[in-house]
Amino acid sequence: MIKENLDIIRATVPSNVTLIAVSKTKPVSDLQEAYDAGQRIFGENKALEMRDKHQVLPEDIQWHFIGHLQTNKIKYIASFVTLIHAIDSLSLLEAVDKEAAKNNRVIDCLLQFHIAQEDTKFGLDIDEARAMLESESFKNLNNVNICGVMGMATFTDNAAQIRDEFKNLKNIFETLKEDYFKGNDSFKEISMGMSDDYPIAIEEGATMVRVGSKIFGARNYNI
Ligand SMILES: *Cc1c(COP(=O)(O)O)cnc(C)c1O
Repeated sequence: MIKENLDIIRATVPSNVTLIAVSKTKPVSDLQEAYDAGQRIFGENKALEMRDKHQVLPEDIQWHFIGHLQTNKIKYIASFVTLIHAIDSLSLLEAVDKEAAKNNRVIDCLLQFHIAQEDTKFGLDIDEARAMLESESFKNLNNVNICGVMGMATFTDNAAQIRDEFKNLKNIFETLKEDYFKGNDSFKEISMGMSDDYPIAIEEGATMVRVGSKIFGARNYNI
């Protein structure tokens, strides 16, 4: 089932867009099945869960942390995480930098923007991002590398609204690129789109899509 689902999704994701298989809450056997079907990039949103899965699954998996990261949990993933998608404050970025330094690494990160109409979703606005990128503290961070932006659209059936929110994120990306990352080739990622809206996200310029339930089936949070 997972292999079939992956084949269907892959057929709709262009080769220049990275497909992240969001495996949160799913058992290791499901990830192994996706791995056997060729998937190498997985997304998780709990640090301990990601650490535990990393310990038992093949070494060549790239682990993307896609959720809200608590500073006291960074230490569990700092030695191996490939990309942290949801940086939404300078203090979080500083904490990631510190743990990355302890591991002699530079950790790639995305800045999360609040593009949805809901209050509940984390994320920066453009002014907060500017303040962060212009701060002295930011300039002193040597063990994090900002590679782009991430956002989540409103949970709605209104496709036009979702499209507008993705356009907004793309604009934010272009603005930051122009003002702070010109000539910096590693600032190139726009992580947007989930199971229900990733085709729109791709049309609006996503370079990474985060797809969970369309690959692994619905999640059960009660187990
Ligand atoms: C759970 C989650 C996803 C995947 O959601 P699906 O609707 O199952 O595809 C994507 N991004 C983030 C940040 C998530 O927490």
